[in-house]
Amino acid sequence: MASAHTEPTQPSSPTPISGAFPAGRVRIVLVGTQHPGNIGSAARAIRTMGFSRLVLVVPERFPHPEATALAAGAAGVLETAVVTATLAEAVADCRLVLGCTARSRRIALEELHPRQAAGRALAVAEAGGEVAVVFGRERTGLENEELQLCHAAVHIPSDPDYGSLNLAAAVQVLAYELRNQAIGHVISGGEPARQQAPEAGGGVRDPGREPPATHAELEGFFSQLADTLDAIDFHKGRTPAAAMRKFRRLFLRADLDARDVRLLRGLLADARRMADIAEGRVPPPRRD
Ligand code: SAH
Repeated sequence: MASAHTEPTQPSSPTPISGAFPAGRVRIVLVGTQHPGNIGSAARAIRTMGFSRLVLVVPERFPHPEATALAAGAAGVLETAVVTATLAEAVADCRLVLGCTARSRRIALEELHPRQAAGRALAVAEAGGEVAVVFGRERTGLENEELQLCHAAVHIPSDPDYGSLNLAAAVQVLAYELRNQAIGHVISGGEPARQQAPEAGGGVRDPGREPPATHAELEGFFSQLADTLDAIDFHKGRTPAAAMRKFRRLFLRADLDARDVRLLRGLLADARRMADIAEGRVPPPRRD
């Protein structure tokens, strides 16, 4: 680790992307990081690409001298890093949560190339939404439950025979793609991101719409949906988890805004009430 101390710090600050790319709305989230050196290297990786927001979900060892050493000139990123107890807490206010995974899992999440992911992130951030790019543990990656809190999975198309990058290297690839997207966006006045991600809220949004629902709003809806499906006996012996994965995928594709979520939750509340009446759990309403 000594070599990290002797490396020169950044010769100059990163090329400014201009105000057009709201880097402040993009956070990098590291879940359960085991090696403090990786936290430092990730801090350096994002700082070189013009980002500064790092969120650490239960890091094994932090703060730590090894993290500081490997951050080199990006120690400021570590100083302002936020530590949370859960991934849900780390992304609660986000409109877009992207989960980076070294391998495809059997989970019904849309899988994006890093470039597509960056296009979407840019579109959402530009529309004023918060974006999280989430990375897993060195040994085991993200757990399925954690991936399910993400709106899409991102896979760096690595060699299938040896496809797992070092954590900080994966962070670097994503940060680089985000920066590239932003630079392209600045050069051509916004067209690339809009062409790549019209569905992500960065293109032309219906002016009558509210802002896209936050992660917490969507999770509230999904949890009510799961309860309602049970109450109306939707599953009929099949596994609830499989149905929920399909519903999550469907509703995430729909780019719901806050009003859509309220409407759907109203529908669920009524379905639930009718199920409770039908089952005799509550008396029917008097209609006189
Ligand atoms: N053994 C773990 C790999 C963890 S690597 C596994 O099989 O899941 C640590 C983290 O780096 C991963 O959780 C992921 O967020 C990121 N990462 C590594 N390789 C990646 C790849 N090819 N594409 C996307 N993310 C990757």
